[in-house]
Amino acid sequence: MTEEIKIPQKHPRAESLRIREKLIRHFKSGVVASAGLIAHGRGEAFDYILGEKTTQPALKAIKATAATLLTAEHTVISVNGNAAALASKDIVKLAKITKAKIEVNLFYRSSEREISIKKILEEAGATEILGIGETASARIPEVGSERRRVDPKGILIADVVLVPLEDGDRTEALVRMGKKVIAIDLNPFSRTAQFATITIVDNIVRAIPTLIKIVSKLKTKSEKKLEHIASTFDNKETLGEAIHLIHRRLSRLAEKGVYLPILEEDES
Ligand code: ATP
Ligand code: MG
Repeated sequence: MTEEIKIPQKHPRAESLRIREKLIRHFKSGVVASAGLIAHGRGEAFDYILGEKTTQPALKAIKATAATLLTAEHTVISVNGNAAALASKDIVKLAKITKAKIEVNLFYRSSEREISIKKILEEAGATEILGIGETASARIPEVGSERRRVDPKGILIADVVLVPLEDGDRTEALVRMGKKVIAIDLNPFSRTAQFATITIVDNIVRAIPTLIKIVSKLKTKSEKKLEHIASTFDNKETLGEAIHLIHRRLSRLAEKGVYLPILEEDES
């Protein structure tokens, strides 16, 4: 039986708790792997440190991503259990406006999980989902896990792969294959963040809706302008800015030590 926890509207961490509840529900329905819950916790810790908002460096990476997606030949959005649980509607919307394909790619692959993920993507409006069952018949080199299995109509031939919440090994392998890899990862120190062509250091629940807005804005721009935005983006510099931002924020908070006030009953 699923226990439903009622989260008080005014709880100071209500949004974070709602996201946790969503992941737990999707864990029970077989979409999220048990290790996915742990991975979420690591992401949450970085989100806390970043201030739980989309930062300037993240916005810069999102703009470069929008320009890259609008000029790509063949984009694939790679979806795992956590991404499907947290952002299926937005993933489908993004795929539609950028004419990208959606492919399921799992570290802990089982046909039950593939089917559960396919189901929620279909409920979110997806009509074609690659990488299910035998269709994931191609292999990418140097990846030890089940994530090496890809669809010959999808990731194998893609020039751009968007990998929300990815594993470092596969990001490295995809970059080695000459693909542009765009990662959404709250941890700027992860191997995924370090190896990607563009790293969006932000929570998937904020990054994809923002990306959709920026794609809609840039859609009318010329190919030349879009290529300029994409080619002048520097991932090393932008990751450095994200790490600087963490550094500055932590220094400010370190000066204070205690920085959260206890509010009076009627202020809370
Ligand atoms: P890597 O393999 O890239 O070195 P890792 O082994 O530390 O990373 P994984 O479990 O492979 O971590 O991947 C999970 C990653 O997803 C973590 O870096 C975590 O910060 C990130 N993450 C978790 N939840 C979210 C979220 N909601 N939005 C963005 N990133 C998230
Ligand atoms: Mg990993």
